[in-house]
Amino acid sequence: MNYPLCDKYGFDEIGRRRRIELLGLHRSDHRLVGQLHAQVITPAGARIIDDFYDYLLSRPETALFLDGGRKVPQLKVTHADYLDTLGIGFDSAEYFENRLRVGMAHARIGLPLSLYLAAYRLLEDLILDRFSPELFRIPEEGMALVRLLGRIIKLDISLAIEIYHQSQIQDLIRSVHSLADEKEELSQQIRTDSLTEVSSRRHLEEVLAREIRHARQQARPLSVAIADLDHFKRINDEYGHLIGDQVLREVGHRLGAAVRDGDTVGRYGGEEFLVILPSSSPDVAAQVGERIREKLAGEPVSLAGQTIPLTISVGVASLLDNDDAESLLERADEALYAAKQGGRNRVVSL
Ligand code: GH3
Ligand code: MG
Ligand code: MG
Repeated sequence: MNYPLCDKYGFDEIGRRRRIELLGLHRSDHRLVGQLHAQVITPAGARIIDDFYDYLLSRPETALFLDGGRKVPQLKVTHADYLDTLGIGFDSAEYFENRLRVGMAHARIGLPLSLYLAAYRLLEDLILDRFSPELFRIPEEGMALVRLLGRIIKLDISLAIEIYHQSQIQDLIRSVHSLADEKEELSQQIRTDSLTEVSSRRHLEEVLAREIRHARQQARPLSVAIADLDHFKRINDEYGHLIGDQVLREVGHRLGAAVRDGDTVGRYGGEEFLVILPSSSPDVAAQVGERIREKLAGEPVSLAGQTIPLTISVGVASLLDNDDAESLLERADEALYAAKQGGRNRVVSL
């Protein structure tokens, strides 16, 4: 036989024995369990179950979980099975597995722990109500049965609640993981420009700040290039805004292909891209600027059966001792302006 819940929660023979002993139960109690069934549960079981559900239906907080009584007939059958097996073979793997499964079923419907305990209290009281005075003819024997019932109920509670608690923790862990996934997805979205799929402006700003820090710490050069499409307004006017959007996507891909790993390409504004080039000296950066220019001017963009010629102007600047992100970008912008003034489709370094 397979007992997956026992395996999972460590109820092998030793684990089960420990739990039993902890609750004051002994092997010799099997005989008393037989007596409890023969003298109380078997004759009164059906009444106990009826009283149990009548009571639960009479209380608004428990009635809520019974779906206005619709679920009661099915639950009575399940509960009758539960009562029929109460305490029988209490130290066996089968018994533990069954009681652990009861806890899991209740965890799934989200029954609050307080109601759970109240239901066990009710069941114990209803069984005690069925103890006849005859059982106490020898008072110690009657008391032994009362005590046994209490211990069996506590065993069942301890198993049901154990797994109840565990499955709630597992639910929590699952939601923590799915929140973490969502957070990762969101931060990925924030880092990416949705149209062109290159870095967003926000991400560019983070990367630039970080790279300036690293360049200073490691005494390495750092350069940036601002690349702005020439006369892009005309592209929109001639081919429409949607084609304009697709051109921007293509430009983003081409820029990505023009730089090496470790460089960052992002969309800085409408039709303006920023490329961050860690460890690149002014000479290298000027070469990268030229490569970007050629990537665009060298081959027209083909879209929707149209061939669209493009050029781009690039302004390059490299980090100086007293630069911050703002002054570095300002210089790259000035270089870009000079490239535009100089006739476009060119690279200017400052
Ligand atoms: P210049 O060579 O001086 O840069 O000329 P330009 O036409 O490229 O520059 P200008 O700043 O006059 O116009 C930029 C154009 O870019 C206008 C604007 O409609 C277009 N643009 C900006 N963002 C987007 C966008 O997301 N999609 C599209 N399709 N067009 C955009
Ligand atoms: Mg432009
Ligand atoms: Mg512009």
